[in-house]
Amino acid sequence: MSQREWIEKDFYKDLGVSSDASADEIKKAYRKLARDLHPDANPGDTAAEERFKAVSEANAVLSDPAKRKEYDETRRMFSSGGFGHGGFAPGSQYTTGGGGFGGGEFNIGDLFGGGTAGDSGLGDLFGGLFGGGRGGTRTPTRPQRGSDVEAETTLPFREAATGATVPLRLTSPASCTTCHGSGAKPGTSPRVCARCNGSGIVSRNQGAFGFSEPCDDCRGTGSIIDDPCTDCRGTGVQNRTRNITVRVPAGVSDGQKIRLAGQGEAGLRGAQSGDLYVTVHVTPDKVFGRNGDDLTVIVPVSYGELVLGTTLSVPTLEGRVGVKVPAGTIDGRILRVRGRGVPKRSGGAGDLLVTVKVAVPTHLDEKATEALTAYLEAEKASGFDPRAGWAGA
Ligand code: ZN
Ligand code: ZN
Repeated sequence: MSQREWIEKDFYKDLGVSSDASADEIKKAYRKLARDLHPDANPGDTAAEERFKAVSEANAVLSDPAKRKEYDETRRMFSSGGFGHGGFAPGSQYTTGGGGFGGGEFNIGDLFGGGTAGDSGLGDLFGGLFGGGRGGTRTPTRPQRGSDVEAETTLPFREAATGATVPLRLTSPASCTTCHGSGAKPGTSPRVCARCNGSGIVSRNQGAFGFSEPCDDCRGTGSIIDDPCTDCRGTGVQNRTRNITVRVPAGVSDGQKIRLAGQGEAGLRGAQSGDLYVTVHVTPDKVFGRNGDDLTVIVPVSYGELVLGTTLSVPTLEGRVGVKVPAGTIDGRILRVRGRGVPKRSGGAGDLLVTVKVAVPTHLDEKATEALTAYLEAEKASGFDPRAGWAGA
């Protein structure tokens, strides 16, 4: 492929994405097309095969941020006529193959007659544009770290407070189990592309120009798989449903995110996996509420219990606790039980806050009514006036 072809090709169109598509959009578009057009899925269909090649080539460039930048810049340069006096005007002949200047270097001064590369500054410009053009010494295409994965889980209030082990079912691209992510059939392994020495880039000298472009032999990946793994079609990645167990720490609150390092998407070609982020939702509890690390609970009591005092049996996260209500406790008072709240990350736990709330009987039998009436008389006689000192009296 000549440079002109490279520039005239519309890799974005090949992948069906816009020229400002995100890396993720490109990855998704490529995965889908590669699956649909794969020769294994379309035996004997030469049109599909051509498309498959075009899509692979487009992805090799667009999935690599450096190559994509180079491609974008070069295209922009050409469309804006930045090369000046028709250096690459239609009709110019740039044949592929060796020739020109042997050493992989070119001197722009020769082209413009006199002057030096330093004078024009164009040497730097071309060097930057075409990836160095100095004989394919680029570092090999780096394995790509897997993406982070987001998941959600819902926990009952008490499990969130005490900590829980939650099974999660995740469907995401993961390292192929058959080939362990190499993309090569078990027993074989990918070999370094001989043409580009594993760099994924080939440099050519054509006429006065030297430049780099993605290697055709390996589609810019730097390695060649002679015998692709049939389970992942040589990609090294499979859509897999994973069942994993997530340890949710005690005291997690609604909406909190937990990070599990290395549990995200598998990296390509054995690269590091991404992380898994689990957002925890907490369902409310019938008994408990939360105020930070403090656990709150409302306990119904009778008027008499508040007047005379009592000991209440109050539920906690682990069991129950006896809470002493002193005689003469007013309605709505909050009693604090230290250390019986929600476990803290730093160790220890918050408090249990017990609110007493008077329950008023809506129906009393004759005996209780009589006793209460007698009580009110006695109360009055003892000098108690509920509205004494009340501003509204
Ligand atoms: Zn595989
Ligand atoms: Zn190659």
